[in-house]
Amino acid sequence: MPDTFQQMLKAIQSFLIEEIYPLEEQLEAPFFSRLEPLLQEKRRIVKTKGWWCPQMPESYGGMGLNLIQLAQLSEILGTTPLGHYVFNCQAPDAGNMELLLEHGSEWQRTTFLEPLIAGKIRSCFSMTEPQNAGSNPTLMSTRAQLDNEWYTINGHKWFTSSADGASFAIVMALSQPDHPNPYQRASLFLVSTSNQGFEHKRNIPVMGSAGSGYISHAEIIYKNCKVPIAHRIGGDGAGFQLAQQRLGPGRIHHCMRWIGICERALDLMCRRAASRMLKTDKKLGDMQTIQNWIAESRVSIDACRLLVLDTAAKIESEGAKAAKVAISSIKFYVAGVMSQILDRAIQTHGALGVTDDLVLSFWYRHERGARIYDGPDEVHKSVLARNILKKYKDIAAS
Ligand SMILES: Cc1cc2nc3c(=O)[nH]c(=O)nc-3n(C[C@H](O)[C@H](O)[C@H](O)COP(=O)(O)OP(=O)(O)OC[C@H]3O[C@@H](n4cnc5c(N)ncnc54)[C@H](O)[C@@H]3O)c2cc1C
Repeated sequence: MPDTFQQMLKAIQSFLIEEIYPLEEQLEAPFFSRLEPLLQEKRRIVKTKGWWCPQMPESYGGMGLNLIQLAQLSEILGTTPLGHYVFNCQAPDAGNMELLLEHGSEWQRTTFLEPLIAGKIRSCFSMTEPQNAGSNPTLMSTRAQLDNEWYTINGHKWFTSSADGASFAIVMALSQPDHPNPYQRASLFLVSTSNQGFEHKRNIPVMGSAGSGYISHAEIIYKNCKVPIAHRIGGDGAGFQLAQQRLGPGRIHHCMRWIGICERALDLMCRRAASRMLKTDKKLGDMQTIQNWIAESRVSIDACRLLVLDTAAKIESEGAKAAKVAISSIKFYVAGVMSQILDRAIQTHGALGVTDDLVLSFWYRHERGARIYDGPDEVHKSVLARNILKKYKDIAAS
C-alpha cells in the first residue's frame, strides 16, 4: 500500500484512540440517549476529514476503497465497538448499501441509498424467523402477495438487527411460494418502518441487555403491510440469490472487524500481564500459561489476517461466488479465534475482566453471536469439508 494510505491509517488510529475510545465508558449506559449526540459530532469530523463510508464509491460520497484496503482500515475501526458506526460502514447498513448500489432501481437508490450513505437514516435486514431454522432460509413462512401492483406482506421476523430507530427494512418474503425451485420463491422488499403494517414488537434481550438504537435486535410483525411493486429489489423470486450476494461480502466485513477486536483484546491482555504483580518479584507475564496465551493469540491473529487478505484478493479477482469456500473458512475460523482470545483476555484480568470497566465484557456478550449470525459455524465447516471431500469421491465409489 502507498505511504499516503499507511499515513491515513495511522491518523485514523490516533483519532480513534483519542476521540472514540473514551466514549466506550458509556457503552453500557442507556445507549442512544447519551451517546448518540456525541457520535453524531464525531461523524461530522470523520466526514470533513474525507474518511466517510470507506466501502462506497467516491461518486456516491464514499472513499472507494477496494476490499484489501478496506480490510486494513476495518481492522483498525474494529478495535472499538463504535468505530464502524462513526465511519458509517457498520452492519447491517453497509450490506444494505452494497445491495442497493448493485441491484436497486434508480428510484430506490435516490430514495433509500443516498440518505443512507449520507448518514441521515439507518436501515435493517429482516430475514430470520422465530418459527423456522434460519440456517435454512428456504423454510421461510413470511408471504408477499401481489394484487394490483401492490404487495401485502404478512409474517413474523426476529433478530432484525438495528431496527430500533431505522427508517427502512429490507424484508425477505415468499412472493412465489409454489415455485418448484425453493431458491426462487422469495423476493426482497423495501419497507418503511413508519408503514402501518410494520410493528416493532420489542428489542430482544440478548446476554443481559435489550440494547437500543443500532446495537439491538428486534422482533417484528408484518401485518397486512402494503408496499408498491416499485419497492421490490431485483426480480420476482430473486430474493435468495440477492441475499447470498449481500451475505458473502458481509461475512468478510465481519471478519475484518473481528481481527480488530482480537488485536485490542491481546493488547489489553499484554498490558495487564506486564504490569500485574503476583509476588514481589513475579508478574503475571512471567507465568507460562499467560505466555502461551500471548504467543498463541499473536500467531492466530496473524493467521486470520493473512486468510482474510487472501480471501479479499480472491473476491477482488474472481468475485464472491468463486470465493464461497474461502469466505466460509474465514467466517468460522476468525469467529472462533476471537471468542478464544476474548476469553483469555478476560481470564488474564481476573475479576476486572468481567466488569464493565473494560470493553472486553461488552464484546464477550455481543460477539458470542458471531459464531451464529450470517451462518452458524457448523454450516460453514460443512461447506469447507464437502468441498475437500469432492476430491475423494472416487475413493468412496471404488
Ligand atoms: C447477534 C445476531 C444478529 C443477527 N442479525 C440478524 C439480522 O440482522 N437479520 C436477520 O435476518 N437475521 C439475523 N440474525 C439471525 C441469524 O442469521 C440466525 O440466527 C442464523 O441464521 C441461525 O438461524 P437460527 O438462529 O434459526 O438457528 P437454527 O437454524 O435453528 O440452527 C440452530 C443450530 O443448529 C446447528 N445447525 C444448523 N444448521 C446446521 C447444519 N447444517 N449442520 C450442523 N449443525 C447445524 C447450529 O449449531 C446452529 O447454531 C442474527 C443473529 C444473531 C445471533
